[in-house]
Amino acid sequence: MTIKILVVDDSASDRFIIENMLSDYGIVTACDGVEAMQMLKEHRDINLIILDLNMPNMNGFQVLEALYEDDEFRGIRTIILTNYDELDNEIRGLRLGAVDYIRKPIHMASLRARIEVHASLLRAKKALEQRLDDQTMTFEMIFEQAPIGIAISHNRDPECPDEITMQVNPVYERITGRTKDELACSGWASITHPDDLEEELKYYRKLQAGEIDKYSMEKRFIKPDGSVAWVYMVVASLNSNDESKYNHICILKDITERKQIELERKYISEHNSQTGLYNRYSLEMRLAEDYKQKLTTKRALLGIDLSNTQLLTTNYGFMYTQKAIKEIADTLNQYSTKNRVLYQTHESRFVFYMLDYNDKKDLIYFGNLISDVLETKFVMDRINGGIGIVEIEQDQYDVDILLRRLLIASERSKSLYGKTFEICIYDDKLEALVSRERDIMQALSAIANDKDTNDRLYLQFQPILDLKTNRISGFEALARLNTEKLGPISPVEFIPIAEKSKLIVSIGEKINKMAFDFINRLGQEGYDSIGVSINISAIQLLSPSFSDKLFKLIDESKVNIKNVSIEITESVFASDYRNTNRVLDRLRKAGIQIAIDDFGTGYSSLASEYELRVSYLKIDKYFIDKLLVTQPNKAITNEIISIAHKLGHHTIAEGVEYQSQLHYLENHNCDKVQGYLISRPLDEDQAIDFLKRYKS
Ligand code: C2E
Ligand code: CA
Ligand code: CA
Repeated sequence: MTIKILVVDDSASDRFIIENMLSDYGIVTACDGVEAMQMLKEHRDINLIILDLNMPNMNGFQVLEALYEDDEFRGIRTIILTNYDELDNEIRGLRLGAVDYIRKPIHMASLRARIEVHASLLRAKKALEQRLDDQTMTFEMIFEQAPIGIAISHNRDPECPDEITMQVNPVYERITGRTKDELACSGWASITHPDDLEEELKYYRKLQAGEIDKYSMEKRFIKPDGSVAWVYMVVASLNSNDESKYNHICILKDITERKQIELERKYISEHNSQTGLYNRYSLEMRLAEDYKQKLTTKRALLGIDLSNTQLLTTNYGFMYTQKAIKEIADTLNQYSTKNRVLYQTHESRFVFYMLDYNDKKDLIYFGNLISDVLETKFVMDRINGGIGIVEIEQDQYDVDILLRRLLIASERSKSLYGKTFEICIYDDKLEALVSRERDIMQALSAIANDKDTNDRLYLQFQPILDLKTNRISGFEALARLNTEKLGPISPVEFIPIAEKSKLIVSIGEKINKMAFDFINRLGQEGYDSIGVSINISAIQLLSPSFSDKLFKLIDESKVNIKNVSIEITESVFASDYRNTNRVLDRLRKAGIQIAIDDFGTGYSSLASEYELRVSYLKIDKYFIDKLLVTQPNKAITNEIISIAHKLGHHTIAEGVEYQSQLHYLENHNCDKVQGYLISRPLDEDQAIDFLKRYKS
């Protein structure tokens, strides 16, 4: 930095001496105040004045005053030249703004030393100014141009904007969609999304209280047009001595675009694309979250499980089913509230997450409501299903277990009630039942796959008495299961499990084999005209190649086909009438006897019996039991017998336990009887013994 000095003195010799002494500085001179002011205007780079006080025209004091008056010159350092006896003048001059004085006669070394001090002061000041300038420039540049929003403010209470003093940069204004003045007016709290406000206020108060010195979060600002700006925000306190000035800085980055992509991804991962409902993953997250929160309110899951969407698709096509499911989703969604959130956990499963209800009655009430709605609305679509309810225990957090329980309950509801949407509440009893069912299934599966197991499937045989000949004409083969874990299990329990799992097909083949072995044993014992009838369920009868396999086994076992009977229930006709008749025709023509089991309780009306090409109707135990409580002339059992005869079927009465029943049946021409009165189901050896004893 060059120092330029103006020397103002009316004494030409003084001017000369000073000029010489300071020749290494830039020197200009003036002989009085007027000329001095003139020189200042011409040489704008003068930064030091050596000023004599006593001068004609305009003296040194007047120059000092003029300098003080002028904005441009006020900062110029002025050193006054005084005489030894002019102490008052020195003081006056210093008061008027001079920074130093030099007494005349001028002592050269002292003059030089002083000028050097002032020159270095000037240089230091200049350097300092330069640095400040640079800093201001850097800060302003960042503030104005950086691609992030910056606000510096002092604001004790964000909800009371009166107290705000703030600086915001253009990006901050752009992100929030508001000018600095508008922002100062509204405060940030009122333009923060309500869902983010609570969290931020919590942080902010901690910051103001000095508990933390910064926080960061992703939050939403509501813009004036109502749209949302997502930002990543860092707020930090500023250490400022001045209480009233800015005390924190807030830096924003606009992440709206990224957030939108993120939200879209999140939406996709949490929703079913067809129906727009929350999906299973979303329910899992919610349950896990609520467990973490240690909610003390009552919570439950209410599941709606559609049972026949597969069938719908087969019958009417994929689009039809999709549309039906969407309609059900929309209908159910109308019942979704904050405390009853609807999820679709699987294509054909819906779950209401129920919160804060009073008791089970509330759940059942809501379940019934949904059941009614679905039944009335979707009866035409032939959609049915089950409704299950699981109450969530406080310490239950395993989502898989909960959803499994829910499925157990709704599945149970489906199998218990069949057609309509009924409710089943999950409890320990149901759990025990299901685990028992699983054990049975495992046992059956091991047997079906010839695994080495101590569980046993075998047959008992119940004699059938021909009333016309008074001889035992045959046996009904009844399956028995005995497992190591559960002991003896009734076929009433294990046959439906075998049917549900389709294991009945291979289990059935084993039963057929055992029944044929018994027919052969009977032959060996000399009873070659005594037949055995085998119960065949619909799934077996309609499974592919059922008859082929049966004929093959009959061949291999070398049994007389005339001794083979099968019993089927009327419900077989309900599932596939034409196919059933086709299979039965083939069996009948080959010589197999066919009986309709449990006749009178099921699906078919007597009228359609014309078309049933079967040999026997087994009159259900229900009509035989009736004989005990109804006056003989009022009972309809005789009508069933006579109509069956007219239609060309023989009759077998089931579950005959009393002599009186037997009498009635004899009197009304029933062909055959079966029941405890004759004999309970017997093991093979017992059955042979029974035959021998019965003959004699
Ligand atoms: P079902 O075909 O109606 O068999 C008659 C059932 O009545 C048998 O029960 C038999 O033990 C019982 N019973 C016979 N006489 C009397 C009586 O006088 N009083 C009473 N109270 N009951 C009597 P079980 O053996 O428990 O079989 C139940 C059902 O299990 C059978 O009903 C049949 O539907 C099914 N089942 C049994 N074995 C097989 C099989 O090998 N295959 C298939 N698919 N189903 C079978
Ligand atoms: Ca039967
Ligand atoms: Ca029966």
